[in-house]
Amino acid sequence: IPEAMREALPILATLNEHGHEAVFVGGCVRDTVMGLALKDVDIATSATPEQVVALFAYCIPTGLQHGTVTVMQDRTGYEVTTYRKESVYEKHRRPESVAFISELKEDLLRRDLTINAMAMRINGDYYDPYGGMSDIQLQQVRCVGDAEARFQEDALRMLRALRFASQFSFRIVYRTWRALLKHRELLRYVAMERVQAELDKMIGGPAPHYAASLLAGSGLLAYTLEPLPAARVLLAEAAKAERVQLDYLTALDSVDIRYAALLTRPGVMPEEAKATLQALRMSGSRSGIIMAIISLHHELIANRSLTEEKLRTSWIEAVLRYGREAAASWLHIAEANGREHPFLADLPRMKHWLSQMDISSLKELAINGNQLAAYWDRKPGPWMGETLKRLLLLVALGELANSQEQLLKQVDRWKEETDEP
Ligand code: ATP
Ligand code: MG
Repeated sequence: IPEAMREALPILATLNEHGHEAVFVGGCVRDTVMGLALKDVDIATSATPEQVVALFAYCIPTGLQHGTVTVMQDRTGYEVTTYRKESVYEKHRRPESVAFISELKEDLLRRDLTINAMAMRINGDYYDPYGGMSDIQLQQVRCVGDAEARFQEDALRMLRALRFASQFSFRIVYRTWRALLKHRELLRYVAMERVQAELDKMIGGPAPHYAASLLAGSGLLAYTLEPLPAARVLLAEAAKAERVQLDYLTALDSVDIRYAALLTRPGVMPEEAKATLQALRMSGSRSGIIMAIISLHHELIANRSLTEEKLRTSWIEAVLRYGREAAASWLHIAEANGREHPFLADLPRMKHWLSQMDISSLKELAINGNQLAAYWDRKPGPWMGETLKRLLLLVALGELANSQEQLLKQVDRWKEETDEP
């Protein structure tokens, strides 16, 4: 029994001593069998929520109506959920009601996949009535019982099936896959936040290329509540290209950079990329980062020029507009992509120019707006920001030193030009 689960053993022991069954369930059992690090440790019990609450001094009634109580043990909270059966699912998503039951086997039956429907007892014995163990051995994802029924009850399970397959590089068994294709249009009942969360785990996981090919091969994303135009284009392409063309995604260490990489692939317009992120309900800060990389990419393409000097200028302007971080991420993507990238030959120079830029934001400039206005003796206004930006560009291009003296000298020159009749 892994350490993380051993720490929760006193909870199981207390429940057992009072005549209740209690076992580890779900992800922690699966990850133990697979030899992976555990995330959260979940417990299931035959005790009712009231009985659980009565047995533990420190607990939080997290979701009493669903049977979940969070029990504190050495400052860690463990979700203890009463064995339950779900009946009549509302709109292919949430069960309308749950009934508490006494049989573990029946509790495991309501779970999505066989690999997620195993339990472990206090002595370390596994209980695996639906063949999760052998599916792990065969490296395959399979629904518990009738796949069609499972997906009709809760459409999110289709996306979860693809997610677990891609996380573990498992294949999906034929019946489950066929049921998914048959019922895929039910995905529109799933809230976009949930779609986003699963997609994040797929794109951010260890095999984003496989995730993309599963999404494309199943066509599942075309059945989301809102259209994901770019996603459809790029994932359809991924299907054709199979694994090889997208395997560079694994070299990118953040999920948002991977989204940016997918959404800057040929054939995806920036507006489509933006619409896709909006449809996915991506937070403002995340879509800001992703769109900065995408916009920078399209600006570079639009200003593409053969002369070295113009390339340098447009690159530095783009860095100033979208920020150093977006520029570094863009380079990261371009380098990982390698073989098919339009700027492949220019990358070493662009990287060098970026590293040579002394400053990349107005904050770093040796004078600020107030100093500028006082020196020029003009009313504050939009001209200040514009002037500072021009100074920043000159400094970033290496044509002007970032010292107050040099900057003000340049201001003098512009002042003369403007003062002339
Ligand atoms: P991880 O947390 O590593 O992503 P997990 O298996 O712990 O994986 P959770 O979403 O935390 O996944 O759910 C815990 C368990 O609850 C699952 O292992 C599964 O048995 C069950 N479960 C979760 N969501 C569903 C669902 N939509 N339908 C059926 N069972 C589910
Ligand atoms: Mg979990």
